[in-house]
Amino acid sequence: MSELRGKLNELFNRVCAGGAPPAPARFMIAEVGPKDFKGAHPVIDRSKLQDAEQYAERFRQLLGAGYAWLNLSYYGLIGQTGLVVVELPGAAPRPEVRSPRTSVNLSGPVMAVADANWDATAFVVLVGEEPDSDDHDGGGSKHSAEPTAQAVNKGESTMPTTGEKPGKGTYKCKKCGQLVTLDDDTDTLPPCPKCEHTEYDKVA
Ligand SMILES: [Zn+2]
Repeated sequence: MSELRGKLNELFNRVCAGGAPPAPARFMIAEVGPKDFKGAHPVIDRSKLQDAEQYAERFRQLLGAGYAWLNLSYYGLIGQTGLVVVELPGAAPRPEVRSPRTSVNLSGPVMAVADANWDATAFVVLVGEEPDSDDHDGGGSKHSAEPTAQAVNKGESTMPTTGEKPGKGTYKCKKCGQLVTLDDDTDTLPPCPKCEHTEYDKVA
């Protein structure tokens, strides 16, 4: 068992036992320092969240780095996932004080989170992109995500778009490749019948 997993078990079994916040099967770890707080509220970049297994080695290194303390706080749920924040001190680690070991301070969700049905966002500030929110479709998600984002940013693109009357012809959905045929110059391009995407390439 990794040090992190041991501490997580301790956190849920002992510290949180009285207040009964849920102990989810899956955790995400966010590491923060003094600069990552807005008042009392940690500001968490979604793209930097790591799962417990990914973070275990980093945690092991932190424990051996000579920090006076580390705070390990369960801040509540993001959806079905538990958010655990590892807070580092502002002071640089002092390798010479490795012994006695770094004190790991455990804490559970604050009352505001408990009152919000353990929703972590009642206390933490989430910023940045949701990790792999586009990846659930699997496969070529990277492929399709980029042109979409570019097209949205461009705004003045000339590509045929849902709601326009680009004229008689066959149009191919940029996202899934579905073909849509317009029989008449007055026909309006619909959302893709297969995936509801709104951008097309004219193919015929
Ligand atoms: Zn489509």
